[in-house]
Amino acid sequence: MIQAPRGTSDVLPDEAARRELLEAHVKRILGAAGYERIETPVFEDTELFSRGVGEATDIVQKEMYTFTDAGGRSLTLRPEGTAPVCRAYIEHGMHKLAQPVKLWYLSSFFRAEAPQRGRYREFWQVGAEAIGASEPETDAELIALLAELLGAVGVRGTRLHISSLGNPETRAEYREELKAYLHAHEVELSEEVRSRIDLNPLRAFDSTDPRTREAMKDAPKLLDCLSGEDAAHFEAVRTLLDDAGMTYELDPTLVRGLDYYTRTVYEFKSSELGAQSTVGGGGRYDRLMERLEGPPTPASGWAAGVERMLLAAGELPTPPSLTDLYVAVAKPGGGPTAFQLAREARRAGLRAQLELAGRSLKGQLKHADRLGARYVAIIGDGASTSLKNMESGEQRELSTPEVIPTILRGSRLS
Ligand code: ATP
Ligand code: MG
Repeated sequence: MIQAPRGTSDVLPDEAARRELLEAHVKRILGAAGYERIETPVFEDTELFSRGVGEATDIVQKEMYTFTDAGGRSLTLRPEGTAPVCRAYIEHGMHKLAQPVKLWYLSSFFRAEAPQRGRYREFWQVGAEAIGASEPETDAELIALLAELLGAVGVRGTRLHISSLGNPETRAEYREELKAYLHAHEVELSEEVRSRIDLNPLRAFDSTDPRTREAMKDAPKLLDCLSGEDAAHFEAVRTLLDDAGMTYELDPTLVRGLDYYTRTVYEFKSSELGAQSTVGGGGRYDRLMERLEGPPTPASGWAAGVERMLLAAGELPTPPSLTDLYVAVAKPGGGPTAFQLAREARRAGLRAQLELAGRSLKGQLKHADRLGARYVAIIGDGASTSLKNMESGEQRELSTPEVIPTILRGSRLS
């Protein structure tokens, strides 16, 4: 028997209804702040991610679905959304538009990871990007928008962690300092961290190994090494959050998975999620555009996992699916009339379904009841139809063209 590939899942109707609710919140909240939707291709040139996400990252090192197409091109199923959005910004000359360009997306992404609760090989993200914006207000606004979205979706137990990564130059100096510290403490580090000291020393802060975590407590922190301008930018972001009454935890060990972040970085965690506790996160990426050979453009953005948001929201009420009219057929040959009546009912704004499974009349009435239909029209032979109000049980013979106006009037049938 063929099953869905490991780490993927079907979105069944109940789940789809919850996602539609989430999408409506995204549109309302981001739309109100002037963000517009963008969707990019499911696969891209592999180089976009090796350059735009970074060679040293987990994503590029071990999580990408990469394949060669018939034309010999190396393509990769998108593992994240920021690099593609920046590629599109450059490709379509969006730097000529009034800045910032504010975009959002809701798309599926692909990472070859060990599947577990909240971690899949195909998953969905909502993302927001403000491109061409350097002001601290941008970062604070983005953080506030994500907080509002999580609140609207009903994500429980959220905590905001923030930090600043400064700029690549001070980060390079800091890296050397950290590498020296890690080398001096090699015996206390996990094999994985030790093997990557020179490739990606910052990831040591992400380790879940207890001895490594202990050793990292006294490691030098980047936050203490920021340049004056970066420190002032971060201070301004913090003041804006404070003034907005947002609580956060200053987390100097916060290392985002992507290489391209500068200055502000943040994550929202939820206590509902166990090991995969991050619902969403983001930061400023002022140097990414140049790395993709675009004009130097400051930018900031976040992405949040749809499955994790819904997991952390618990049971969202799914709106009941309602039916106004069920069109049943009493005699063989009534099908075409039923078909027309259902179409006309929908044009008139009613939710209408017709019998499609060849049930007996008794079976059709039972099915209409199961669907919660308010009315059932039973097509007789041609001109006459019997309309039954399922709430009151009243039933009346009508000419078929009278059925829809009668329902719309909501009049009593007797
Ligand atoms: P993690 O540390 O959990 O691996 P990440 O840093 O790789 O997360 P990002 O690249 O920042 O995650 O992606 C943003 C959000 O997308 C995450 O906070 C999470 O909610 C979601 N996400 C990331 N990877 C997965 C996955 N494999 N399955 C489901 N959701 C995911
Ligand atoms: Mg990850």
